[in-house]
Amino acid sequence: MKELKIRIKTLTPLWTGGLDGTMDRIHETGLIGSLRWWYEAIVRGLGGRACDPSEHSCELSGSRLLAYENARRQGKDWWLALKEAGICDACKIFGTTGWKRRFQMTVVEDKTQPAWEPRDQTLNIRPPERGRGWYLLPGHVGTFTLKFVGEGKVISLLAFLFLWLEQYGSLGARPQLGYGAFRIINREEVAKKAKRGKAVLQEISVQNNKASIYPDLRRFLFFRYEFEPSKPGWWTRVPGVGRIGSNIQALVTNQNMVPTTPSLKNKWRFHQWRGSRDEEVEIFGTLRPERKRGRIGVTWAYRENGIWAIHGWAWMPQRENLARGLWRILSNEFVWKDVLGVQGKLKVIPSGQWKERTPFDVRKLLQGVCDD
Ligand SMILES: [Zn+2]
Repeated sequence: MKELKIRIKTLTPLWTGGLDGTMDRIHETGLIGSLRWWYEAIVRGLGGRACDPSEHSCELSGSRLLAYENARRQGKDWWLALKEAGICDACKIFGTTGWKRRFQMTVVEDKTQPAWEPRDQTLNIRPPERGRGWYLLPGHVGTFTLKFVGEGKVISLLAFLFLWLEQYGSLGARPQLGYGAFRIINREEVAKKAKRGKAVLQEISVQNNKASIYPDLRRFLFFRYEFEPSKPGWWTRVPGVGRIGSNIQALVTNQNMVPTTPSLKNKWRFHQWRGSRDEEVEIFGTLRPERKRGRIGVTWAYRENGIWAIHGWAWMPQRENLARGLWRILSNEFVWKDVLGVQGKLKVIPSGQWKERTPFDVRKLLQGVCDD
């Protein structure tokens, strides 16, 4: 068994949920859910197979179990034996009925605290023309360490996954509200381990040439906006943010973060998007009549080394005309500048225009993670 400690500093609050709807501490289950979600998207993007967990198609029982045991008897390792039994690449590591998760994860050093107090107090961000706006709970900010124990191969895959999340995604729940951006403090150590994980992923063979209807990196767009405001109070002019008062002032001053997510989403959804109500819900989600998650994850603005940044992703809808429309909105630098009131630099992947990627493109994208 190998061990890996990943030391993490939050860039925006981390949200893992809790028992009473607020967050009392970091809950491991809330983190694992996000790890699995992204790992599945990576596997599918490479053309590999990740089952839909709600279908229970990957149980290790009956004939599958026999196939697994057979392969093991022939001296094959568990990885290969599971493959022969038809267990998907995500269940191999994250577990399924009849097969335990291949790693343990514990929070060993939790030096986080609520982003503001008390922890059940919501921050209401209401852009001028909205009736209700968005309600944000504090989540946790600070540093913490995650300890992973598992086999070398699994640990290396997790190390790679964290490097991926740091650059392109986020950790924990509610990415749609901007939670979960982070920096790995012991980056070099993690990157060293991740090398092997990257190689293991490259071995996934292409079984599906067409992108899945489930999260699949071939149908993701990624973006990053960086800006250096000339005035420290730039955020007071962001619609809905400036008038909140002392809570925000403390966030900006002490935590170097500004909850710009609602203002950007408000602009994209209610000012930029042109289309039917159904299409709007399909992209931006809704709470009623039943909750449907939006397809855009965008962090709050966070400051590192004097530079402010926002990053995020969109899981593109199946219909290409919607996907193209969404690409146009998100890659419009004027919209960003208009909401934030600061000229910056926007980077969008893929650039130029929206196009579903191939497993080869995804491979290249993964290859570039922490190649420095
Ligand atoms: Zn599976």
